[in-house]
Amino acid sequence: MRKNIDDIVTIKHRDKAIVSKTGGTTGKSLKIYFTEEDVQERFAMLDNFRGKHGYKLGKRTAWFSGKNLLTGRDIRKSRFWKTDAVYKVRYYSTFHVKNEYLKHYVENLIKFRPEFIVGFPSTILEIAKFGLQHNFNFPDRTVKAIFPTAETLLEEMYEVIEKFFKAKIFNQYASSEGAPFIFECKNGNLHLELQSGVFEVLDDNDQPAKSGRLIVTSFTTEGTPLIRYDIGDTITLEDEDKICTCGNNNPLVKEILGRIDDYVFSPENGKINLGNVSNTLKDTKGIVRFQAIQNNLNKIELLVIKDDKIYNGSIEKKFLQKLERQGWK
Ligand SMILES: [Zn+2]
Repeated sequence: MRKNIDDIVTIKHRDKAIVSKTGGTTGKSLKIYFTEEDVQERFAMLDNFRGKHGYKLGKRTAWFSGKNLLTGRDIRKSRFWKTDAVYKVRYYSTFHVKNEYLKHYVENLIKFRPEFIVGFPSTILEIAKFGLQHNFNFPDRTVKAIFPTAETLLEEMYEVIEKFFKAKIFNQYASSEGAPFIFECKNGNLHLELQSGVFEVLDDNDQPAKSGRLIVTSFTTEGTPLIRYDIGDTITLEDEDKICTCGNNNPLVKEILGRIDDYVFSPENGKINLGNVSNTLKDTKGIVRFQAIQNNLNKIELLVIKDDKIYNGSIEKKFLQKLERQGWK
């Protein structure tokens, strides 16, 4: 697609197109050209999703986006945000989430009292973790909903973020390529939004499966058509007989597992995806973060940042046991 993008794009006058670049977490970034109508339709669907959870333009919102917003002067003054006073949106920088700055984020969020929080869950997680660790008390019944964007949500993220902000996360799946949407409803179920495109889930032999690679055909990419596009994410569908009572009859998704290449390989069990690797953190308090590196089929290397006040030998034993159960000795 990257090689043949000029043959794929349907917009004659590129200067009239709206360009979106895909993220650079894996491989090179790819430029996608949208028509104005594509973008309007996508924003309308997103607005409708957030609207179902109470959001409206003009309600106080804290936004954590990938835009670089700050000047050197802002940083010297410990101002890690910019405010759009007309729409009451405060944009917080996601490039300055360091331990030494986090206090300013937490204090400012408590002062700003946003009704809605939108943006990168990894950044929101760091702020929530810091707030809990340092006993900041986020005011009750302030935040009405949290809308994460762009990254795979892990169970631990849900727990920490919802605990600190005392509000529910409503997840969504979208992509900068323009994939159709998956939205979480008020009952906490994820729905394939069939009005935005066609979804297929295929196994490694390209056969329909309950859990596997997500192949998308999008209705909102007339500028750069996505037809049976292998987007590189994996999902698990819900049992077909399970229905949701929220009023949305679109099919249900059990879990969005994230990037297909986010896994480590266990000789015993094969691919262990990101979600399962991070599940080893359940009941193992005191591990601030860890990294698993694999350069050899039979071995993974673990780097751990621990909280010395909590972490001890028995926690380490539990942590290693859980990894062993996934197939490492
Ligand atoms: Zn529902």
